[in-house]
Amino acid sequence: FKSKLPNLGTTIFTTMSALAAEHGALNLSQGFPNFAADPELLRLLGEYSTHGFNQYAPMTGVRELREQLSLKTKKLYGAHYDSETEVTISSGATEAIFAAIAATVSAGDEVIVFEPAYDSYLPAIDLCGGIPVYITLHYPDFQIDWDLVKSKISPKTKMIIVNTPHNPTGSVFSENDINELAKIVADRDIYLVGDEVYEHIIFDGLSHQSLCTNSALKEKSFICGSFGKTFHITGWKIGYCFAPKELSVEFRKIHQYLTFSTFTPAQYALAKYLENENNYLSIPSFYQRKRDVFLESIAGSRFEFIPSKGSFFQNVSYANITDANDAEYAIQLTKTIGVASIPTSVFYHQKLDQKVLRFCFAKDDETLQKAGEILSKL
Ligand code: PMP
Ligand code: GLN
Repeated sequence: FKSKLPNLGTTIFTTMSALAAEHGALNLSQGFPNFAADPELLRLLGEYSTHGFNQYAPMTGVRELREQLSLKTKKLYGAHYDSETEVTISSGATEAIFAAIAATVSAGDEVIVFEPAYDSYLPAIDLCGGIPVYITLHYPDFQIDWDLVKSKISPKTKMIIVNTPHNPTGSVFSENDINELAKIVADRDIYLVGDEVYEHIIFDGLSHQSLCTNSALKEKSFICGSFGKTFHITGWKIGYCFAPKELSVEFRKIHQYLTFSTFTPAQYALAKYLENENNYLSIPSFYQRKRDVFLESIAGSRFEFIPSKGSFFQNVSYANITDANDAEYAIQLTKTIGVASIPTSVFYHQKLDQKVLRFCFAKDDETLQKAGEILSKL
């Protein structure tokens, strides 16, 4: 058998979570909350399931949920998406990102990818025969040099993938980033994936800069989101994609044969739950507090950091502690002191080791404090 993806192994998230379990370590590696979702949301799931909402959902998603998403996006970002033709519910953002890439990228097309990059983009580009064009961002601020981006544009550039708030770095787009990006794609046949799964997890009064806030970008963007992140339900795998009608038509051609539709009772439950805006407006302060609990717990340690601006990840440098390679160090910490993290080199195709680990702070306070206590002894 000839593999189509010969260089691809098991994801780092599966690997590190398994290692954490094997060694009984505190698992701050894979990004998922270790606390329960709101009992009200769980009650709604049970209610819809009990009352017969258990058959195939419409291919595009449950109408009520598409409508609620459309309303929320209008309210938060001032952008109008028609709920019938421009909003599609997917099985997690992972499916949405895959479908958006598959709908757009053909063999030989170039796709600009900023590294460190979330690990699902490249296999999708690869399978389509696309050619990734990498732009490397560096610790500690991971800022994008837009002149460099401009210099990488070629007649073959078909897509740019952006992610804000950013996994793994915790950086976020500014209004200037949005404007610079808009200048670059203006008058060019370049499409965008906006991975905005952490749109509601943003700190210190910053506001999320969605691609849809700029009308020129909105026209060319597949904006992908996920309820897993926002409502502590990563296991439900309910995501969505906003795209203008013409792009949504193509997106749906892929979606309908990838999964056809997704988990029905959860879509009804989420539609109802979104009616109360406080359910998502309360998320930034909830996670900012978690970030601060973690940062206070490592404040006296030898780790160096700048506070995460968004997402539920904190990067820390251990350059003051050892010059060990980050992949080896993450494994060593899991096995010896019982705290698991993700080495950030895995998010660079050339495994750039900057002595930086990613810790997920979507954990209960006790876990965060305990982890901080242990890390502070290093
Ligand atoms: N993009 C990023 C940046 C993520 O962190 C994740 C979740 N780990 C996803 C996409 C996928 O989201 P989902 O779990 O909804 O498929
Ligand atoms: N997005 C999560 C993370 O970055 C993991 C998702 C997954 O395991 N596929 O940790």
